[in-house]
Amino acid sequence: MISHLNADLHSHSTVSDGTLTPEALAARAKANGVELWALTDHDEIGGQARAAAAAQALGMDYLTGVEISVTFLHQTVHIVGLGFDADNAALVNGLRQTRGGREQRAREMAAGLAKVGIQGAFEGALKYAGNRDLISRTHFARFLVESGVCRETYEVFRKYLTEGKPGFVEHRWASLKDAVTWITQAGGLAVIAHPARYKFSANEEFALFTEFKGYGGRGVEVVTGSHTPAEYISYADAAREFGLAASRGSDFHSPDESHTEIGTLPSLPGQLTPVWDLLAERIQTASHPSLGAAPSAIP
Ligand code: AMP
Ligand code: MN
Ligand code: MN
Ligand code: MN
Repeated sequence: MISHLNADLHSHSTVSDGTLTPEALAARAKANGVELWALTDHDEIGGQARAAAAAQALGMDYLTGVEISVTFLHQTVHIVGLGFDADNAALVNGLRQTRGGREQRAREMAAGLAKVGIQGAFEGALKYAGNRDLISRTHFARFLVESGVCRETYEVFRKYLTEGKPGFVEHRWASLKDAVTWITQAGGLAVIAHPARYKFSANEEFALFTEFKGYGGRGVEVVTGSHTPAEYISYADAAREFGLAASRGSDFHSPDESHTEIGTLPSLPGQLTPVWDLLAERIQTASHPSLGAAPSAIP
């Protein structure tokens, strides 16, 4: 059955805040039995060609991927894009703009941390950033663990990097409409990432799903490393209610930090349309690579 395909459509490499290169991540996915993979770095598609080539060399099917940071009702929401044309100019430019504010934000985060006695956090975090454009809270968290301020990265987030804490800086990301539009106009499919992670009221969540669909969004993550088994069930219901396809992905970042190993999640619950059914033409099969091809150009 197609819904039992071992698809892992959410993971991060050194191109954003993961600790493995795209090639090492591809090898790990393959070793864990992944049959269809997508690398979904934050706000950045610079790793796509490497990921696709590595997947092909390993005989693993591939979909292009990205995870776009969006501000919606004063919260940060993540929208995963799958199966787009990685050369699409509007997508490439939109992502470049979204990344633009990260360095200034990181400097402000470091200033906030300095006020509570943590010096040198900008330079410290930068050491962990494989891609300077993508300096993120995760890199600060690794620096604070290294310097002995906290024992684990989740503790850093809880004490320093979330709303109201000294290293938190409010940031304005892309709009929901822009993110969904960039993905869909590049021939891809937009997916709401880990919906259970947001702190929306029922009405606000309804607004998110409704607006997302209105802009052309077509999928939602149901089985993700960020959800509990009870949340798999409730977001499977939401997918059916809103007529969205369902996605599955570990959100794997690092062998040392991620609680969910790449390729090891349960299958999607029944009576759902898997996103990969809607993306059949966009999959770069190991024998027919098509990176960057527009939908009409796929053989
Ligand atoms: P940023 O895009 O700089 O705001 O960083 C967001 C990233 O931080 C997410 O993609 C996760 O990798 C990580 N993150 C966010 N919240 C937590 C948390 N509570 N514990 C561990 N990692 C987190
Ligand atoms: Mn991340
Ligand atoms: Mn996310
Ligand atoms: Mn992610």
